[in-house]
Amino acid sequence: MKDIKSLTLEELKAEMERMGEKSFRAKQLYEWMHVKLVRSFDEMTNLPRALRERCEREYDFTAVKQVRMQESAIDGTRKYLFELGDGKLVESVWMKYKHGNSVCISSQVGCRMGCAFCASTLDGLERSLSPSEMLDQIYAITLLTGERVSNVVVMGTGEPMDNYDNLLRFITLLTDENGLHISQRNVTVSTCGLVPKMRQLAEEQLQITLALSLHATTDEKRRRLMPVANKYSVQELMETCAYYFEKTGRRITFEYSLVGGVNDTDEDARELIALIKDLNCHVNLIPVNPIKERDFVQSGGEAIAAFKNKLEKNGINVTIRREMGRDIDGACGQLRRRQKALQ
Ligand code: SAH
Repeated sequence: MKDIKSLTLEELKAEMERMGEKSFRAKQLYEWMHVKLVRSFDEMTNLPRALRERCEREYDFTAVKQVRMQESAIDGTRKYLFELGDGKLVESVWMKYKHGNSVCISSQVGCRMGCAFCASTLDGLERSLSPSEMLDQIYAITLLTGERVSNVVVMGTGEPMDNYDNLLRFITLLTDENGLHISQRNVTVSTCGLVPKMRQLAEEQLQITLALSLHATTDEKRRRLMPVANKYSVQELMETCAYYFEKTGRRITFEYSLVGGVNDTDEDARELIALIKDLNCHVNLIPVNPIKERDFVQSGGEAIAAFKNKLEKNGINVTIRREMGRDIDGACGQLRRRQKALQ
């Protein structure tokens, strides 16, 4: 069955035409789904009952169900565990910032990228999410919190560039003026660095932010942390980031998870500066969130501060990712793993 919440307004109009319905019905349906955020056809009270029943028969209606929620006592960050139509589980995170609420969504169930420090990839990839399953994480959180979401980061479980077509459709729907209408500038997509897809994304000329999970400056070191580094070199990644900026005018975010004794030395900082100094970019340092399945340790506070200072002294824009929700299994994929272990 067709997934109705993944259709654009234009496609929905074509559907209504096919059914012999007036085209304004498409607008009504779209508004119920993407503005009023209803969770069933039943609630679409200005549609004739016969049409609602026909839609019920002909379409899948994605509505993720909350299985668990954990709220951080430290900063109010909430981590939601949602169940999809086929019973699979995904995590999403809601963070409150001064400038508005941010939601971090998953793009896949599991992940096949195999990064050494990441919990999401331990059991491999189960499947990719549909556009509506990505959207509905945001819709469900909007309903559950009663607050508007202003920023969306695709930084949860999964590699978004490994689910490219669904990702693009998701962005189209999320930023559509007839839907939630979140500004493209408030959307960030994080990738471990699938070069051909990053190039393709550059050509779409969207105003979203591309974040690259760099984590190391040499191919050799990066390969130890990220298997994807066997496929694409750091040099290629840098060229691709420059291309993204050239095409979109959007500065790149580099994510750099600091792992104690692995990539946090003075020399690492020097190499990072040399690598990115000519790029219009921003560096987000993430103190690695240790997971129990791996023996990586977080860099010490001093090492983190020294790393940051060194970059700043060289004119590089840098922030340390506020460690939100550490008390609630904040690291990618931790909550889902725990729930699976209980089942
Ligand atoms: N697959 C995408 C997006 C998901 S991961 C990517 O690789 O970018 C989001 C970010 O969190 C990435 O930078 C990832 O490398 C990082 N990350 C994953 N597990 C982590 C952990 N335990 N500690 C710190 N950062 C982690």
